[in-house]
Amino acid sequence: MSAAIPAAELEALRCPVCNARCRPDPVCSRCGVDQGPWRAVLVKAWELRTEGWRVLLGGDASRAAELAKQSLRLHGTGSARALGWVAAATISPAPSDGA
Ligand SMILES: [Zn+2]
Repeated sequence: MSAAIPAAELEALRCPVCNARCRPDPVCSRCGVDQGPWRAVLVKAWELRTEGWRVLLGGDASRAAELAKQSLRLHGTGSARALGWVAAATISPAPSDGA
């Protein structure tokens, strides 16, 4: 996977081991832990919510809600929660059969 965490999001992250600010290098400059596997999960979550916003803008709120749920399972971000809320509010109620 060649995707990387966007710089703005990376700057907000802290090493899960020592709480040092994350740098572009996946090896923590303070404790030396390899953050690569952890970052791969964060990238997947970012891809899922990015795709979620894209499909929501395309009109598929149900798919966007599912992508938000999948993203939240990996990384609980405000963006993923917002996607889930907006998608849920956008989903049309099931059509009534008129009975
Ligand atoms: Zn560290």
